[in-house]
Amino acid sequence: MQVAEIFYSLQGEGKLSGVPCAFLRLAGCNLRCGYCDSPYARRAEDGRAMTVEQLLEKLLAYPTKYVVITGGEPLLADELDELCAQLRSAGRHLTLETAATVDHVVAVDLASISPKLSNSRPTDRSGVEEHESRRLNIPVIRAYVDQASRDGTGCQLKFVLEKPADIEQVEDLLDQLDRKCPPGDVLLMPQALNRRQLARRSAWLAELCKEHGYRFSSRLQILLYGNEPGR
Ligand code: SF4
Repeated sequence: MQVAEIFYSLQGEGKLSGVPCAFLRLAGCNLRCGYCDSPYARRAEDGRAMTVEQLLEKLLAYPTKYVVITGGEPLLADELDELCAQLRSAGRHLTLETAATVDHVVAVDLASISPKLSNSRPTDRSGVEEHESRRLNIPVIRAYVDQASRDGTGCQLKFVLEKPADIEQVEDLLDQLDRKCPPGDVLLMPQALNRRQLARRSAWLAELCKEHGYRFSSRLQILLYGNEPGR
């Protein structure tokens, strides 16, 4: 598997925010989000090749029950199923962070799905069309929501909002999922790459959460570390 980084930190986003976790960031992504906070993980060829055995040895050595596989887009990785199965049979609670754009459903403890809104478009012109055609794959998102409800595992839909009007796209997407995702599993998170943006956008986003009954998610990694890689 192509690995961008492995590190131990606090989960910064979502339902497990604040929990010490072992992170595996896989390299390789099929999107080109303009606000990407881990551009160094976009190309698989920039990653370091590691076997499932090597990854297990590293990840199981951290003093936590919680493991997070993130990216890049982890669903593109060969051997993902094998790694997930082995981590879970070793007693780890496994979170998978994905945009769910690839037809691949893997069993995990918390499916952390981040459907990309139109505000994710690339900042330069190249790749815009490809990004737009790939950024939403409703059947895959639905498959993860259904899997969680069937298996009694966790699921969260984490939306990145840049402006209040972005809520319309969130509502539209939840309609496309037939409102199968409970409001408590819908998280709104401010688009932010630094503390200033985070503070500014959190203010109106908190009010939107109150209005719509969705959960607010901050970005603890920005507050604590200023979005440095590996933390
Ligand atoms: S899906 Fe994630 S890693 Fe890929 S470009 Fe978008 S923000 Fe970056």
